[in-house]
Amino acid sequence: MKIIIIGAGISGLSTYLFFKKHLPEEFRHSIYIYEKRSEILAQSDSKYLDLEGGGLGIMPNGLQVLKDLDTWLSKEVASQGILCENFTFYNKYGQMGVRQNISTGTRELQCVSISRHGLWRCLMSQVKHFGDAEEIIKIRKVTRVYWNERMKKAVLQFTCNENIKEEIDAELVVGADGINSVTRRSLFVSEDYSPKYSGFSWVGGGIQPSQLPEPVVKGRAWVFNLDRQSYFCYSPGGKISGNKIMWLSLYADRNPSSTKLLKADLWYRHRHWTDPIIQDIITEADPKSINRINVMPELPEWGRNGIVLVGDAAHAMSPTSGQGASQGLEDAQALALVLTETLKQCQEEDDGALNLEIANAIRLFSEIRRPRVKWIAKLGQRLDTLVLPYSRIILCVLHYLPFISKSIRIVNGLEAKMAQKSLATDI
Ligand SMILES: Cc1cc2nc3c(=O)[nH]c(=O)nc-3n(C[C@H](O)[C@H](O)[C@H](O)COP(=O)(O)OP(=O)(O)OC[C@H]3O[C@@H](n4cnc5c(N)ncnc54)[C@H](O)[C@@H]3O)c2cc1C
Repeated sequence: MKIIIIGAGISGLSTYLFFKKHLPEEFRHSIYIYEKRSEILAQSDSKYLDLEGGGLGIMPNGLQVLKDLDTWLSKEVASQGILCENFTFYNKYGQMGVRQNISTGTRELQCVSISRHGLWRCLMSQVKHFGDAEEIIKIRKVTRVYWNERMKKAVLQFTCNENIKEEIDAELVVGADGINSVTRRSLFVSEDYSPKYSGFSWVGGGIQPSQLPEPVVKGRAWVFNLDRQSYFCYSPGGKISGNKIMWLSLYADRNPSSTKLLKADLWYRHRHWTDPIIQDIITEADPKSINRINVMPELPEWGRNGIVLVGDAAHAMSPTSGQGASQGLEDAQALALVLTETLKQCQEEDDGALNLEIANAIRLFSEIRRPRVKWIAKLGQRLDTLVLPYSRIILCVLHYLPFISKSIRIVNGLEAKMAQKSLATDI
């Protein structure tokens, strides 16, 4: 059985690894990844770090998936990043700190703060256990994917020049090609299923501090400073980032501005924010681009026949959810497990049965995953559009309530509720 994964991001690499772990040997499957960015093969070895996007939080649920995949891998990710126990929220004047515990209680399953490239590099080193990276990952840009009813195969198309289009086919194509997925556009032509601008943008990156800020080290925390229209967040990037501080300034942006005055805009936006660490970060920062946050509307299905979507291609969500990468990891595991179970129902030689079972697996995978992802994505959007405008009130209540109502002890309940609805939703 031939499987092609489009995209060598976090979702694509983890799908490859889960397929390798679970798919039955007797199907003599061959699995390849097609990736359009040629530089990724060089980046997997070098110390070059693509720090754009700031830090990434792998939440306890994402960490559990990594552990299921390979205990060594989850330990490696934890040791290359930094285990975090808390999110700490302040207002823009650095007041009214509220600490929210995000660990599950077991030391092994906390949140790992790591650069995005760091997680990717750990996955990539696992992929290389299965052969030469150049053999597994083909550097080519896929321009179209479609289902050929006559052949009963999924077909990938590459444009060589205006007139020549090359094609290859496979029994299963997994679109792990991110928010601007070509695979998704092949499945859904309607504009209704294209990413939509959320009204928020972000700039971010990593800086090398002389020492890690105290709130990050002592509180083992990600630190968020909130205002009505924006937040500024910083977190440790871990060993793999060279112990950088990853930072992110996210803000409501009706008319996304030009990138010319990026640093000046950053200064202006946070000029009255009193946390000295923010001012230090901005002094050092060298932001390269403004990134509009686009989110995916809910799709009616995540695939059909032999074509399926995973990760951001199916459900790109606001970074405030803190769940983008973890949900991509969950998709990879779920798809591999469902496919493995359904394949047990047929023999590889029976093409008709194989097609049927692959289509069944895709339908099941979609049915299992969609409701959960829908809930998490909504949460992220609500946090951006509802929590930010009322951040002052929310912080005030959570900060002062313990003193007012010590005896009735409702704080824990409230915090628990907040935690349930929080960025770190421990799912
Ligand atoms: C600022 C920011 C902060 C974030 N913070 C967090 C966080 O704290 N926690 C968290 O879990 N998530 C976070 N996320 C989200 C997370 O980074 C993404 O959800 C995750 O990286 C998506 O992985 P992916 O593999 O699905 O997609 P991508 O990373 O986009 O990978 C897609 C790959 O497909 C390739 N590709 C695309 N088109 C083609 C084509 N036509 N042919 C061949 N190859 C192609 C691309 O080059 C790319 O390598 C954050 C995101 C942002 C922007």
